[in-house]
Amino acid sequence: MNIVCLDLEGVLVPEIWIAVAEKTGIEGLMRTTRDEPDYDKLMQYRLDLLARHKITLAQIQDVIQTLKPLDGAKEFIDWINSQTRIIILSDTFEQFAAPLMAQLGWPTLFCHQLIIDSSDMITGYKLRQQDQKRRAVIAFQNLNFRVIAGGDSYNDLSMLLAADDGILFRPPESLLEEQKQLPVVESHAELRATIEKLLIKKKSAKTPLSRVDEQYACPNCSPASNFVPG
Ligand SMILES: [Mg+2]
Repeated sequence: MNIVCLDLEGVLVPEIWIAVAEKTGIEGLMRTTRDEPDYDKLMQYRLDLLARHKITLAQIQDVIQTLKPLDGAKEFIDWINSQTRIIILSDTFEQFAAPLMAQLGWPTLFCHQLIIDSSDMITGYKLRQQDQKRRAVIAFQNLNFRVIAGGDSYNDLSMLLAADDGILFRPPESLLEEQKQLPVVESHAELRATIEKLLIKKKSAKTPLSRVDEQYACPNCSPASNFVPG
């Protein structure tokens, strides 16, 4: 059983913060996960800029309403859905995602939440969990899925490395220099061809219980050694 886990921004839709930077003229918001490996540092920097320039959630949502998915992204998701299953693992926020997810046909999205005050200012954010992309991959593997993952940025790396097959989609040069072991594709057509080959390939599945990360192992479950396939 396969499952495809894909990043959202930079793979299926444009970078939301770059669109906000262009619309508001706040150049500092051009900085994304493609430039800054430390997500918390990046988000605090963004929130400080929003506060300084008094940008509300509604203003950002107005920008997002104008965005369209990347060319071919909807067709690409439709194709994956016709072949296997797909989950979008994103470090975006529930308050941002809806207009774009509607245009993509509402694929399942795991992301985070923004904290908003009474004057519609973004005062913080609540991660669904730390390192959520990698932990989702490990959880799917423990459910006996073979995971194919695709992403473009530093915040995708732990997901791509944990997946059975990780694929970099149009990564920045700096990431390309650091991660030479991951295959790289430059278009949805190439990504589709790569995934298609992986789906066809009858790779012998690893024993799911053998790779349970101790940190996430269920304390009430029988140890792997007691597991007898039914
Ligand atoms: Mg991305």
